[in-house]
Amino acid sequence: METTKCLIIGSGPAGYTAAIYLSRAAIGSVLYSGIQPGGQLTQTTTIENFPGFPDGVEGFDLMEKMRQQAVNVGADIRQGIVTAIDLSKRPFVATIDDGSQIAAESVIVATGASAKYLGLSDEQKYAGLGVSACATCDGFFYRKKVVAVVGGGDTACEEAHYLSNLAKKVYMIVRKPYLRASAAMQQRVNEKENIEILYNTNTLGLFGEGGVEGAHLVQFKGTDQEQTLDINIDGFFLAIGHKPNTDFLAGQVALDEQGYIALSGHNTATSVEGVFAAGDVADPHYRQAIAAAGSGCRAALDAKAFLDTL
Ligand code: NDP
Repeated sequence: METTKCLIIGSGPAGYTAAIYLSRAAIGSVLYSGIQPGGQLTQTTTIENFPGFPDGVEGFDLMEKMRQQAVNVGADIRQGIVTAIDLSKRPFVATIDDGSQIAAESVIVATGASAKYLGLSDEQKYAGLGVSACATCDGFFYRKKVVAVVGGGDTACEEAHYLSNLAKKVYMIVRKPYLRASAAMQQRVNEKENIEILYNTNTLGLFGEGGVEGAHLVQFKGTDQEQTLDINIDGFFLAIGHKPNTDFLAGQVALDEQGYIALSGHNTATSVEGVFAAGDVADPHYRQAIAAAGSGCRAALDAKAFLDTL
């Protein structure tokens, strides 16, 4: 079986940064890109808060630059998904979706997080038929149509703003009486005449023949003002946060109460010696590309320090 000093799982800013650092330190590593090569940023539009790009940078371009930088310093980047890993003894053994296996003396988990859904059966019923968790991927299909975005955070505002430039009208379905998003994002949304925010509102279900034609909503749920209403929409976009991608670890690494990988103190070490975590999979708090890149650097340095002790 092939053996590597460090297996990096995931290809977002954390994974690529770890690969850059390990490659430059001449520590053999293999990075598997996972389900979404380049990670979440490949699905976003212009990024204005990643230092070094005074005019902003497209998410896809930023990730392509990081990948190319890693390749240029010698990183071994492979397409493939780690479907299972045995962390009970070293070397750790990972199984890839093509059936191959690789042994690793250390592991950096940088698998990021995936969009959350409300858990309505209609989300599955209309998957690909009007339900989406990525405005920049699917917004194009809703030109001059009516859509709804669920959520009141920065992502929801960003998606609503993006969609408002394509769609005729955008509803934001917000369960609280206020937006959680930053002031700058709120201002952008408020400046758009075709965005209507429905506060104190939850989604009960979707309806439509062969595709989404509307949503059943409830407002002021559980109060004496409670009322239901239906809105006619062509697209229903989820922007209610993310869930860390840890299923493949099958409970072998300690998680925090929200399901993120628990780190031990100031460094990126997990509950398993030799296994480190970086980026959104271990970050319930900051969840920013620059923070993920920084933690990828730290994980690489922590992995190097661990490998030096062997
Ligand atoms: P957040 O967790 O910040 O917001 C999630 C939103 O979805 C909240 O309004 C929340 O409501 C709502 N929500 C959660 N669950 C449900 C549910 N079951 N039903 C209805 N509504 C629900 O996630 P984001 O993805 O928006 O942002 C994540 C992080 O990324 C944040 O730190 C954010 O600042 C950052 N970010 C930054 C950007 C930028 O700087 N340009 C762009 C995008 C994200 P409630 O408020 O009631 O909990």
